[in-house]
Amino acid sequence: MQDKSRYDKIMEICLKRGIFYPSSEIYGAFAGFYDYGSIGSRIKRRLENYWRSYFLKIEENIHEIQPSEIMPEKVWKASGHLQHFTDPVVVCKKCKMRYRADELLESILNESFEGLSEKEMDGIIKKHKIKCLKCGGELSNTAHINLMFSFEVGFNSGVKAFLRPETAQGSYVNFKREYKVNRERIPLGLAIVGKAFRNEISPRQGLFRMREFTQAELQIFIRPEDIKEHPDFDSIRNLEMPVVLAEKRKEGIKKMKASELVAMGYGKRYVYYMAKILEFFQGLGIEKMRFWEKNEEEKAFYNKYHFDLEVWFNSYSEYKEVAACHYRTDYDLSRHQKYSGEKMEINKGGVKFIPHVVELTFGIDRMLFLLLDSFYREEEKRKYFALPKQVAPYIAAVYPLVNKNGIDEKALEIYEALKKDTELFYDSSGSIGRRYARADEIGIPFGITIDYDTLKDNTVTIRDRDSTKQKRVRIEKLKEALI
Ligand SMILES: [Zn+2]
Repeated sequence: MQDKSRYDKIMEICLKRGIFYPSSEIYGAFAGFYDYGSIGSRIKRRLENYWRSYFLKIEENIHEIQPSEIMPEKVWKASGHLQHFTDPVVVCKKCKMRYRADELLESILNESFEGLSEKEMDGIIKKHKIKCLKCGGELSNTAHINLMFSFEVGFNSGVKAFLRPETAQGSYVNFKREYKVNRERIPLGLAIVGKAFRNEISPRQGLFRMREFTQAELQIFIRPEDIKEHPDFDSIRNLEMPVVLAEKRKEGIKKMKASELVAMGYGKRYVYYMAKILEFFQGLGIEKMRFWEKNEEEKAFYNKYHFDLEVWFNSYSEYKEVAACHYRTDYDLSRHQKYSGEKMEINKGGVKFIPHVVELTFGIDRMLFLLLDSFYREEEKRKYFALPKQVAPYIAAVYPLVNKNGIDEKALEIYEALKKDTELFYDSSGSIGRRYARADEIGIPFGITIDYDTLKDNTVTIRDRDSTKQKRVRIEKLKEALI
């Protein structure tokens, strides 16, 4: 169940303060598409950069690349998306309304039907006499439709192409070249932060399921035996991880040490990456999380290990997936070798092999909404986002108490001196209380007020967003005070 009021309150601030809003709004909302506004773009950019600053450095030889968002049909044949990237659909025979079959069943019967066959779903629809929610009409049999956006590229040859439904393929098709560029070192990590597109049957829950969205994905290419080792494993050996094992879901979340997961058979390298994912979210101040293991029916057959990182959303009152870690073995490069005819094999010390892949994947938009949801605060007199500094749209706002008597000039002087080193926002309009409220609503951690005392003793007031406590600081100490 969704906590409507909380969700609505967050959305209200998002609209009012330019965090995000429906796309092409003046023509009516365009379902499944959202635009980030002036404030949201800052938060998103800072979140992406925080991801980069963390994951590009979890080990040596990790690099970011920027492949095309449009790729030809052959890529998607090789990847398996042409055949398998589908959702089950039923259509109302009367009003032609389309439903995602498993979600329709889930919304009515309150249990999960993910991964059922068409026949099984038809059976359930028949048994429970499920009809169109809109008009009561009879529903068609279940059929699978592909979710990729397709079109022709060029005017004469008419090459069929697709908008990428995930960024990962860009790393696989470029592996060979990047391996050479990076001096034939392995492990090699290729990261992509960029757009992906899926023609969802029922986009919903705001930023949660969109037709155009941003992913941050890291593919790490390794020797087959590397999965069992990681040079830094000891640094996380005793880290406790909240895990729900596929075979023991009834037992709920178990706190397991990294070393205990390894003892169960998961490779040290894989567990190391799980730990890094967990620490990344902990670094953002996120606490309520679990690694949810997919079972054999749910996970893709080529994924040997598959844990989703799910985080508790107050707005939805449930855990939802925001990231995942997949050990994909040599599936991707083998498929591309087969379909392109290019050898993906490499030779290390006389041993030839096709590299294996561990994939770390993140939904940026979901993470952004997670931050808003986790850090939304409501007090008697104010609502605000207690966003961590790494992702706040600005670090501080600068306020002249009044716009006269030299105070505004002094404030501008401080603003100009500091803005090179930090993200600052200058606000001189309205009462100081109003200005605090506006800044709190978009999550600015500090407020700097320049008043009459500043002119006398070169001190300013710093106000802390969360505690609202204020203290006097000398101007030359201001920079340190904001760190
Ligand atoms: Zn209908």
